[in-house]
Amino acid sequence: MAAESRRNPLAYLSEQLEGWKQEGTYQRLRELETACEPVCRVDGREVINLASNNYLGLTNHPKLKEAAIEATRRFGVGSGAVRTIAGTMSLHLELERRIAEFKQVEACVVFQSGFAANAGTVAAILGPEDHIISDELNHASIIDGCRLSKAKIHIFPHCDVDAAERTLAGLAEAPGRKLLITDGVFSMDGDIAPLPALVEVAERHGAIMMVDDAHASGVLGRAGRGTIDHFNLHGRVDIQVGTLSKAIGALGGYVCGSRDLIEFLYHRARPFLFSTSHPPSVAATCLAAFDLLEQESERIENLWRNTRYFKEQLAAAGFQTGSSQTPIARILIGEASLAHRFSAALFEEGVFATGIGYPTVPKGKARLRTIVTATHTREQLDRALEILTRVGKRMGILG
Ligand code: PMP
Repeated sequence: MAAESRRNPLAYLSEQLEGWKQEGTYQRLRELETACEPVCRVDGREVINLASNNYLGLTNHPKLKEAAIEATRRFGVGSGAVRTIAGTMSLHLELERRIAEFKQVEACVVFQSGFAANAGTVAAILGPEDHIISDELNHASIIDGCRLSKAKIHIFPHCDVDAAERTLAGLAEAPGRKLLITDGVFSMDGDIAPLPALVEVAERHGAIMMVDDAHASGVLGRAGRGTIDHFNLHGRVDIQVGTLSKAIGALGGYVCGSRDLIEFLYHRARPFLFSTSHPPSVAATCLAAFDLLEQESERIENLWRNTRYFKEQLAAAGFQTGSSQTPIARILIGEASLAHRFSAALFEEGVFATGIGYPTVPKGKARLRTIVTATHTREQLDRALEILTRVGKRMGILG
């Protein structure tokens, strides 16, 4: 027995995997065999893709591909170092200037991912003596950043502004800084944070206000400037995070704010200091994408036209899409195994929509999540709706 466990000290992981297989929550990775498009081939099957974050259909855009190829030809495939050593290329600085201008802020720092941007920033600016007031449905990267900072974490019920205010009021005499932090758009429900009210609360209590706009960038606000622009809160949110991995179509994350905030992060944000910067192709792709956001405004219009249509039709078919106010629609199922079986059955019929369970969402709140994009055609959406309805009825998810 002792020899046995010595041979495989990771046997407990295999047991856990077996358990997930028994309860129906084990997830095999699906293999995308084509570019990320509204219709693509996955695991050998042609499917309508309702599972990506490719809001504006930029992942395979000819101008972006050209920009990546051109940058690779001129500058190679890698930057060769972390930003603070020798890995800051002109393209990285140009992208940061471009984003800062787009977001109407003093400065911007680009990270390797949105995850790194959130986790790296929260962990860098706070310490054990500080307090974080955080929405219960904030993204995992915020949660990890909070934990890494070692600050005291106060979770408030989802979008409950009064609860956030009560917490801050209760901390009025407590030493340390206070950070009020929220997603701009919540990734698993598609609802928008009550930002104007939260900003007022932060202002009343002298708290730092931080918003993660991963799902709002390229989606909400003028030309996709995000929730701060959508609510006209320019100058009142201290730290804005965005991602380059969703609507922008490539990879990366960024933080926008004052020049000193960005300079501070250059010196203290650990993913920035200790992980190599983007290849030049990624920075060039993102630069081209920001140009497109302003040149091709019809993309965002199409996204919202498709969103309205798809969600209206889902509701007409009897699906409960909850509080969604954005292209993210979630069909609440409850049991994770049923959500995964629903997703698998849809896939067999030609719709790719992910079942999402614990730990991405709380236990008992498993769901199917769909995201339409600007480039889905009406025919594709109608076909997807027909399949969703037929399979939903067959499985007893729809009455
Ligand atoms: N914040 C939110 C709200 C997200 O949904 C995500 C992506 N799942 C991220 C941050 C991380 O972004 P990235 O994929 O660029 O790391």
